Amino acid sequence: MRSLLTLLIGQTMLWTGCLCLLMASLGSGAPLGGAKKSPNKLLLISFDGFRWDYDRDVDTPNLDAMAADGVKAAYVTPPFITITSPTHFTLLTGKYIENHGVIHNMWFNTSSQEKKPYYMTQFVNEWWDNGSLPIWITAQRQGRKAGSLHFPGTASSYQGERALVTDVEPRFYNYANETAWRENVDKVMGAWFGGQDLDFVSMYFGEPDSTGHKHGPDSPERRAMVRQVDRTVGYIRESARRHGLADRLNVIITADHGMRSVLRDGLVDEIILSKIPGFSFKDLSFHLVDFGPVGMLLPKEGKLETVYNALKGGHPNLHVYKKEEMPSRLRYSNNPRILPLLLIADPGYVINGFATLQFNKGEHGFDNEDMDMKPFFRAVGPSFRRNLEVGPFETVNVYPLMCHLLGIQPEPNDGSLDATRHLLASYEARTPEDHREIMSSVSTGLAAVAGFLVVVFLAVTSHAACQKRKAQKSMQYKMHSEEKEPDTKQTTM
Ligand SMILES: [Zn+2]
Repeated sequence: MRSLLTLLIGQTMLWTGCLCLLMASLGSGAPLGGAKKSPNKLLLISFDGFRWDYDRDVDTPNLDAMAADGVKAAYVTPPFITITSPTHFTLLTGKYIENHGVIHNMWFNTSSQEKKPYYMTQFVNEWWDNGSLPIWITAQRQGRKAGSLHFPGTASSYQGERALVTDVEPRFYNYANETAWRENVDKVMGAWFGGQDLDFVSMYFGEPDSTGHKHGPDSPERRAMVRQVDRTVGYIRESARRHGLADRLNVIITADHGMRSVLRDGLVDEIILSKIPGFSFKDLSFHLVDFGPVGMLLPKEGKLETVYNALKGGHPNLHVYKKEEMPSRLRYSNNPRILPLLLIADPGYVINGFATLQFNKGEHGFDNEDMDMKPFFRAVGPSFRRNLEVGPFETVNVYPLMCHLLGIQPEPNDGSLDATRHLLASYEARTPEDHREIMSSVSTGLAAVAGFLVVVFLAVTSHAACQKRKAQKSMQYKMHSEEKEPDTKQTTM
């Protein structure tokens, strides 16, 4: 009886366990197959500075075809500060900028006053390798093969590791050369995905950012460059077909930030710090200004309040924050590399030090809530739904999406697959038929558990009844024997 009871309880626990696992997998929305190696490859492409609405005033037949065959987001929201290296590292790590530490395009040293521009900073290993692993390394540690062409961060190693195949952008590279674009596309499709059987490649194009800076986002030159990007998107998909990859390659195309026209030419009162009463560069031991709409200052010891009070209210379109006062939604303060005073200009304004030395007609770096800072987002491939337009999401969520597509376990990050799960073909496949199927298996499981519980109940109650009868019998016997006991005792004594 006891062994049957144990067996029944064991069976019940097993069933309950199975049911819990099933419920947990439904609750978390995790793929029911677990983290198996994905048969599909993944290509992440960034067209620098491609604003979300650049397809509105230009015919983009190839981007339109990609949206019809895949997914288009209304726009995506980059992290603040909306500049190239920091926002690209967010795509690669899924972390906000204060959490991944690549806080600026420029490397700087506040003691030596040394600054390195964007390109040279690509080769400052410790600037990039400061605790967060980009997806190349995480993928490779889990048995995938990764490559990167020109993507910011490619030149660095991370904890001593780098992408298996890399192509670092040459110095003084001509970003606009369409022939070179096509050669690079064929290299990635043929030699990298084909020949070397890579699972993941990140690929970077420096346009339409350069043209947007030089001529402004509303210029005919920018529109022409968007046509070139569109032709390239067509070429990418054609090259994938030519190399036999079309049915096993997922492609995500997005950007790091948008672009906004700079207000100047006497139309507005430009921000020039040296002209603000009470402010002096002599009170600073280091400054990073003349770099678009955001500046960072390190006041000399004891001068923080002086500098802060002078600049605060010094220009109607200039916002001054102590590091600890930064609006928390910007997530740009909690990092030792960020300097004690931050200056942020209103959209359209740039921050000048001594004179107006910035001549770009277009600029980025502004508040990430500014619609002009939002990039585009498209995705196509076997893992994505078709002809689907979705609402916006933050670019921190691209990393967990990519990890899911590659079937790898992500590093800790600030994104969530929940933000993009509805883009996936597996999500569509699970609605509504699969959900019905899952619900029916849940019902079957529940029925089974209920059945076992009834059996256990019956077994336990009959066992208890049996025990009770035994106890009554034993009591009767005991009472009967106790009657005789004095005799026995007497006999013994
Ligand atoms: Zn950029």
